[in-house]
Amino acid sequence: MVASIKPHRDEIGLIDGLMLIGGEWVAARDEKTWSHMHPATGEHVASFPVAGPEDVDRAVRAARTAFDEGPWPRTRAGERARTLRKIADLVRQHGDELLKLQALDNSVPLSFGSIYVTSADFIADAFDHHAGWTDKLAGETLPPYQGGDHLMMTLREPVGVVGAIIPWNAPLMLAAQKLAPAFAAGCTVVLKASEYATFAVLRLARLIEEAGLPPGVLNVVTGPGEPTGDALINHPMVDKLSFTGSRAVGSLIMHAAATGCKRVSLELGGKSPALVFPDAEVGAAAAVTMGTVTLGLSGQVCVAQTRALVHADAQEEFVATAQMIGSMVAYGNPFDPDVTSSPLINAKQLDRVLGLIARGQEEGATLVSGGVRAAGDLADGNFVMPTLFTGVSNDMAIAREEIFGPVLSVIPFTDEEEAVRIANDTEYGLSATVWTSDLKRAMRLTKAIRAGTVGINGYQVEPHAAFGGFRQSGLGREGGREAIESYTEVKTVLLPFTDEMM
Ligand code: NAD
Repeated sequence: MVASIKPHRDEIGLIDGLMLIGGEWVAARDEKTWSHMHPATGEHVASFPVAGPEDVDRAVRAARTAFDEGPWPRTRAGERARTLRKIADLVRQHGDELLKLQALDNSVPLSFGSIYVTSADFIADAFDHHAGWTDKLAGETLPPYQGGDHLMMTLREPVGVVGAIIPWNAPLMLAAQKLAPAFAAGCTVVLKASEYATFAVLRLARLIEEAGLPPGVLNVVTGPGEPTGDALINHPMVDKLSFTGSRAVGSLIMHAAATGCKRVSLELGGKSPALVFPDAEVGAAAAVTMGTVTLGLSGQVCVAQTRALVHADAQEEFVATAQMIGSMVAYGNPFDPDVTSSPLINAKQLDRVLGLIARGQEEGATLVSGGVRAAGDLADGNFVMPTLFTGVSNDMAIAREEIFGPVLSVIPFTDEEEAVRIANDTEYGLSATVWTSDLKRAMRLTKAIRAGTVGINGYQVEPHAAFGGFRQSGLGREGGREAIESYTEVKTVLLPFTDEMM
């Protein structure tokens, strides 16, 4: 059996299971709670409130009052920046406990949580980065189009109350990517954490409170999509919905935004390709691509490059290396420093991944390795062995559906044109990597591929660059200027110098 996580829970001791509404830490009015079961061991970790419509209403009204009457939207840019930087400092100081709480939430191993996008530094940097935008939210001055002697200019103002909803896979990072630009712009927020990753977000909210944000600027409601998320997206006092999650729920969010005429940003799923040519460092391409579907979150990552489009001449080396990387994955208790990868988040996702693996075999793909639930000591957790398919054609379910598990599909191609056609033959468009030593080809393909981010011989997420999807991978961008501007409205101001416009 995987060693119990309970001693770690008791050692951290920061789980209070209350939500933040209008500056107070409260239970749900009807006292309903959700029991969080750990995905690696099946143990009960702790409980947190399920916010009903009445709780969500209180949270939205608190955010509304804080926006309409409170100091935050009217606070000088430099002051807002200072508060955001203080949040960043507190996140760095409390990085260890945040990552431990995240491991209790979703079982992301500490060995992975402390590096790259899930690290406390990355999360803190997101607040620091957006702090820098507060005094750069500039409008324009424009020449008058019609006659008259007047000054015409645009101002950027905060969009208002933001309803932010995040998934479970990288809760701290994804919360930061919404909260930091919203606060920087002067908005107030009701954040709904995922029911599968709540405790780390609640701790982050405590740190944000400690940094001195006025009451009501951040409210956190906990609970599942129904009733909590549903009440938030349909609340008439919310001005903007900012969502990260699956395409199916994203579509519901967009409907709610359409009904309420709300602004909306969506960060959804992907079925991203890695295009591997024989002139590339094929071993590196295989290691990175298989790494995106196995290491850390076991492929439960929006930017996992789950379709490896590999030229016939590079197949042998690619498959051998990918298989070797898969065999290096170590599952278990996320607090064990030797563990590299996480279980699937819940039993529903376990069934779905195993079902898609079976479908791949039925449709004629060759299963090279994995394909089964982990047994023995790992049997109580939702672990699936790292899975590699070859001989996949792009019309198979494993090449079309976002599996969100440790499954890589190798799809052969023979020339550049075919590679681009297969890469773009998807409903998604989040990320891609082109692996080649031919710079001209790299740039030709980068332009031809319909995806929000394209890597050339490597891939990573940068917090200060626009991140988002083409097509059904989303709407809008997080990171950089695009993110902060999406939390603003543009107001045009006319200032006549003469009586001509009166
Ligand atoms: P999900 O869509 O099931 O849930 C996301 C959030 O929506 C959760 O907080 C959930 O409670 C809430 N929700 C569910 N039903 C709702 C409803 N009816 N109304 C309002 N809210 C509702 O996604 P998940 O399983 O938590 O996360 C996995 C998905 O997230 C994948 O598709 C992945 O690609 C995507 N994702 C995208 C990005 C990105 O930046 N593009 C990043 C991480 C994850």
